[in-house]
Amino acid sequence: MSYPALVEPADELTIDEVRRYSRHLIIPDVGMSGQKRLKNAKVLVIGAGGLGSPALLYLAAAGVGTLGIVEFDEVDESNLQRQVIHGQSDVGRSKAQSAKDSIAEVNPLVNVVVHEERLENDNVYAIFEGYDLIVDGTDNFATRYLVNDAAYFAGIPYVWGSIYRFDGQASVFAPSLDGIDGEAPCYRCLYPEPPPPGMVPSCAEGGVLGVLCASIGSIQVNEAIKLLTGIGDPLVGKLMIYDALEMEYRKLKVRKDPNCALCGENATVTELIDYEYFCGAVSDEAAEAAADATISVVTLEHMLKEREEGSRDFVLVDVREPNEAEINHIPGAILIPKGDFLNGSALEKLPSDKQVVMHCKTGVRSAETLAIVKGAGYSDAVHVGGGVSAWVNQIDPSQPSY
Ligand SMILES: [Zn+2]
Repeated sequence: MSYPALVEPADELTIDEVRRYSRHLIIPDVGMSGQKRLKNAKVLVIGAGGLGSPALLYLAAAGVGTLGIVEFDEVDESNLQRQVIHGQSDVGRSKAQSAKDSIAEVNPLVNVVVHEERLENDNVYAIFEGYDLIVDGTDNFATRYLVNDAAYFAGIPYVWGSIYRFDGQASVFAPSLDGIDGEAPCYRCLYPEPPPPGMVPSCAEGGVLGVLCASIGSIQVNEAIKLLTGIGDPLVGKLMIYDALEMEYRKLKVRKDPNCALCGENATVTELIDYEYFCGAVSDEAAEAAADATISVVTLEHMLKEREEGSRDFVLVDVREPNEAEINHIPGAILIPKGDFLNGSALEKLPSDKQVVMHCKTGVRSAETLAIVKGAGYSDAVHVGGGVSAWVNQIDPSQPSY
């Protein structure tokens, strides 16, 4: 079904604007009125990363009058494989400023507002204030639930997207459009609970095909333009699932959950909650196991020297995937992926008479496997805080990071 346009049209387009947007103006559904609505629109994009990069570029090119960017990070070389709004010379710069510069090059008529801060409970409403629509390009669950809840309380519709390896999803969550059909769900209606900590790796841990960002980011822009101008049938109450390997798009119906904790009849979430706690970076078991059994990479380097000299013995286990170990590694580690710990086969490969030291990329996965190994009786097992990333940073900068 269609929804009324979110934005009223601007008074007029200048001659420059008519020239620039002529290919929109001659589409009957968009026309002068639609383009004037885009000119008047204020859209907030959360994150100038994988999804935010294509989203910002296309929203700018389309003539959205005001674009807000929420981003506190800096451009890293490993971003350039997919975050096409940034270039080589931007490495080390603020992503928000880099994105602003690129937008100015694509369309100098766009007013860009940068919010160079991490989205938190205490700034989210101030940042959201005044925007007609939000495009969520967040890469973590804590921020995703924060965006959903704050957008719901603030009554602002948003376009959501997520990406992982070859798979993408997109939808529009707009319970504020409820008055139209009473059926518009929120993100919690679809995903009431975050996945268990450690079960779903982030892009940094699991990888993502660069061009997938463009596939999903452009769907988000497509939906944004439809909502702003009131054309077509937006993804309200529908989930788009994209499989890049099979080249398959599927559309599923998402119903509003009458028992939703946020938008349901007996809502229990009535204000913003502690999202870090709700989504937990590691499980309770892992946090408990790691509490008194985390060593630094400096300690590990010292222990490896002692092992070389023969004054100490232990087994160092890398619990990452083989393709990650090809990128960088801590010398002397054996590779047993985390999955082998979950299915129990890893325990047969561990010597029973030696201390077990585990590491992964950043220390999240190794905290999970530490809990398993300790539970199997290796009471003196430890894991390396910060993982191989900290090793490369502090001990061996000659290796690449990812
Ligand atoms: Zn809901």
